[in-house]
Amino acid sequence: FKTAYKTLTTTVPDLKLMLATYFGVLGDNQDIALSLPVHGLHVDLVRAPEQLASILEKARPDLLLSLGVVDGRNIWKADLNALLDHLEPLARQRDLILAPSCSLLHTPIDLERETDLDADVKSWLAFAVQKIEELHTLARALNEGRDAVQATLAENAAALRARRSSTKINDPAAQARSADRNPALAQRHSPFPARRPLQQAKLKLPLYPTTTIGSFPQTPEVRKARADHARGDLSSDAYEAFLREETARTIRWQEEIDLDVLVHGEFERNDMVQYFGEQLSGFAFTKHAWVQSYGSRYVRPPIIFGDVSRPKAMTVEWWEYAQSITSRPMKGMLTGPVTILNWSFVRDDQPRSETCQQIAFAIRDEVCDLEKAGCGIIQIDEAALREGLPLRRADWQPYLDWAVESFRISASGVQDATQIHTHMCYSEFNDIIAAIGAMDADVISIETARSRMELLDAFAAYRYPAEIGPGVYDIHSPRVPSVEEMVDLLRAASKTISPGALWVNPDCGLKTRKWPETKAALINMIAAAHYMRP
Ligand code: GLN
Ligand code: ZN
Repeated sequence: FKTAYKTLTTTVPDLKLMLATYFGVLGDNQDIALSLPVHGLHVDLVRAPEQLASILEKARPDLLLSLGVVDGRNIWKADLNALLDHLEPLARQRDLILAPSCSLLHTPIDLERETDLDADVKSWLAFAVQKIEELHTLARALNEGRDAVQATLAENAAALRARRSSTKINDPAAQARSADRNPALAQRHSPFPARRPLQQAKLKLPLYPTTTIGSFPQTPEVRKARADHARGDLSSDAYEAFLREETARTIRWQEEIDLDVLVHGEFERNDMVQYFGEQLSGFAFTKHAWVQSYGSRYVRPPIIFGDVSRPKAMTVEWWEYAQSITSRPMKGMLTGPVTILNWSFVRDDQPRSETCQQIAFAIRDEVCDLEKAGCGIIQIDEAALREGLPLRRADWQPYLDWAVESFRISASGVQDATQIHTHMCYSEFNDIIAAIGAMDADVISIETARSRMELLDAFAAYRYPAEIGPGVYDIHSPRVPSVEEMVDLLRAASKTISPGALWVNPDCGLKTRKWPETKAALINMIAAAHYMRP
């Protein structure tokens, strides 16, 4: 860093460099950051307000400080009056720049475009445009005195006050449930070795059982039907009939190619988080609040503004329909609490762990209802568990503790004979393998095809006790893998996983694929599994 910044400043002598840091505390990098020959330093005071005191103390007097005081990662209004209480004494001492904590890449653009949002919820929010206005208000208050922006400050205070006491946020039943929680709620009746024979006796699956991760191709027709229905051009009855036909066709095809554990295909779901959020209370949805997920992919995350509860069953009817048309086991498919949390904008007025736990209770109710309806295999996807890891390793364990506990709360309401699956999309497990084990799922499916099963070493070294479905082909590509290729992967996997514990499945859901390659790949996958069977 020292060499780089020295080179930059000496090569272009008139250049004024602002070094921007964010997403947390500078910590052990603080001394370096403060010693670099830059004109200014930006620090994140939303995630790490505590670092201000030592920065002020150590910063050279001519270092221009940029204070990230408005949350660039979330969508809630800032408390302007409280910020001014802190900033006024500082502004008397030195020149300051006021800024969002980080780039506004992560916030949607303009709240004003959300004409359908609940008026109360809307009054608690600030998107990028509104955040810039907040900064402007703060700057004016510091330069001209609070009186200059008195009406805006009063409005801000009133909105925050209304938010705190709103009945829309506070759901006594959901709060009581969290307060009541006890360790037994996060504990299956028996440990895995005792559950396993009961599940085997009930499910009677062959060795190397085959399954998929949930979704089947979301074709242009499926997306068109959804859009037509949303626009009102397709009646609910017609849309439902279309989805049933699509589901039935997919189930018949899975039977034809001889998959062992079937899925219904998730055609009714717009998105694995939104679909659940729309049926839970405490969630709001926007029309235009798109943010970048990765590359050119954009998502519209739900907003969790209040206590979360589940007014009624969310997936049971679809599962019942799907199971009614086949005699093979039909997996119940749910998104887990940690993933719902990590892919939403989350309320900032209580710890994330508490919100996660409320979602966990809602999912638990769904799991129990599925079991009551007769479902013997329930998959709870935690695609985003790893994404929520804090930047600094020292903060990992507390996160993993509450994340794993939430998953376990959602999964532990069922009988021993009911098999709980989970699925994760990534292939870096070595550093969190103990937490994965602590989730205590009966089966985990993971991405492995691209890493050629290397990560299974982590599972072997840890002595992962339960069953594993290491993905045998990469669903990110339309390429159809050959039978031999998948047999090779299964052989490699069987070195560390016993045949009875090894599932055969793709890396992830198939919704972004087209039918022809999906069919060809799954037919080969099943041939590979059959080849492996004694
Ligand atoms: N069940 C989901 C699907 O198949 C899982 C998706 C994911 O892991 N991202 O689409
Ligand atoms: Zn996945």
